[in-house]
Amino acid sequence: MSQEPYPTVVLASRNQKKIGEIRELLAPFGIPLKSVSEFGGVDDVIEDGDSFQANAEKKAVEMALAVGHWAIGEDSGLQVDALGGAPGIYSARYSGEGATDEANNALLIENLKNVPLEKRGAGYVCHVAVADAEGVVRLNVEATCRGRIIFDAKGTNGFGYDPHFQIREYQKTFGEFNPIVKQQISHRAKAFERLLPRLLKVLSEVH
Ligand code: IMP
Repeated sequence: MSQEPYPTVVLASRNQKKIGEIRELLAPFGIPLKSVSEFGGVDDVIEDGDSFQANAEKKAVEMALAVGHWAIGEDSGLQVDALGGAPGIYSARYSGEGATDEANNALLIENLKNVPLEKRGAGYVCHVAVADAEGVVRLNVEATCRGRIIFDAKGTNGFGYDPHFQIREYQKTFGEFNPIVKQQISHRAKAFERLLPRLLKVLSEVH
């Protein structure tokens, strides 16, 4: 019997901003969370799924099989109504392989240049899948946070498309919010809020 209340869980991501947000969301619950960087020789997952769920499951399963621990796979992205849901699962590499946030945002704004504010609705989607130490998918949750894409970048907090993603009710972008606020209302916050009771239940059954 281990001394820890829960088994170790590994987060299958190398995105430092994302890891930071997820760590904070899980911190109050005492789950020992490790990141992929703490394990040597783990290959990056090729994200060739056709949905957020497929990519999140692939990340979780491959990570669990590589390290022999429970693993969380998270896949997220921005779906813009006027672009038929693009960039969607291609959000990280919207402007090409090895894309920067700046290049992705520039392309997004270019593609929306003729779209008026009232038609710039968008949603951030976050899908989280959990695999057990044998690589079997045990949990899936998905959540969306609605907002709109504003013309000019505002704020320097967050990452990715945050300086252009405005929450209508607050008239502020995720780039302008204090990170504490993003951690309450984001797609990632909502997905982990849904996941946590179920994750704590399956993890507590392991020991
Ligand atoms: P993934 O790491 O393959 O899931 O790609 C996620 C991509 O979606 C990021 O690189 C960003 O472009 C975008 N994205 C997801 N969540 C956020 C967020 O909270 N803020 C800004 N951009 C995000």
